[in-house]
Amino acid sequence: MQIGFFGVRGSYPCPGAAWARYGGNTACVVLTRVGEPPLLLDMGTGMVAFGAAQALDSPFRGTALVTHAHWDHIQGLPYFAPVNRPGATLDVYGPTEGGLSLNEVFDLAIAPPVFPVSWRDLSGDIVFHDVATGCFTVGGFTVWAGTVPHPGTMVGYRVEGDGAAIAYVSDHQMPAERGVVDVGVLSLCERVDLLVHDAQYTDEEFSNKPDWGHCTIDYAIEVARQASARQLAFFHHDPAHDDGVMDALAAKAVEQARERGVDAFVAMEGTSFELRS
Ligand SMILES: [Zn+2]
Ligand SMILES: [Zn+2]
Repeated sequence: MQIGFFGVRGSYPCPGAAWARYGGNTACVVLTRVGEPPLLLDMGTGMVAFGAAQALDSPFRGTALVTHAHWDHIQGLPYFAPVNRPGATLDVYGPTEGGLSLNEVFDLAIAPPVFPVSWRDLSGDIVFHDVATGCFTVGGFTVWAGTVPHPGTMVGYRVEGDGAAIAYVSDHQMPAERGVVDVGVLSLCERVDLLVHDAQYTDEEFSNKPDWGHCTIDYAIEVARQASARQLAFFHHDPAHDDGVMDALAAKAVEQARERGVDAFVAMEGTSFELRS
């Protein structure tokens, strides 16, 4: 299967020349297989660019797996042009939150007065599916969902297709004890070909924001190491890290990972490649 990074930024979008190379759009990663509708991981503002690249010759069909309803993971949906056309269908999977179904969460998130119209007013069909932990299939993809420590309810996903496996853990609250990895997270990530993981903070930044729901670059490496992931993509970059900061962090992070036996790279918006087992 093919993987494309359309949004790699965490928290909020970063427009401007200083963020252009690594990318300023928030979380959206797209998996594609020949003959299958696309499978999106999160619907941050990167989803808008993915939408702009879609052919208009037939109604859009696709599925999005949403980790949680924080803004940086859903803000692209109302601007996703392909679903605002008659005959289009987008299935959206994600967790319930505080007694609200996913459908009800989006009734609050995309509706007046915080948005001009409801998601229900878009021309295509959006079908929400509450995700429980466990396994299900989407077309030719097999998906596992598992809870991940983060404020509110959050699920990470493991997706398998064409013999390759990817785990997507976009946001991950690091525990006080840094060598410890949540058992559920480990089982999602075990021996995947690619782990896309939160790497928002340096150690110093984390010490100032220890309960903001994220982890250090170092901890992302530790998760990949314990899970024996074949490759690690640092993801959910902090908005404070412009391209210059990212260059410096990337060189150090990739080397740190290599020393611990992990093959790692920094996810960059606009890149794509074939994911092989
Ligand atoms: Zn996030
Ligand atoms: Zn979040």
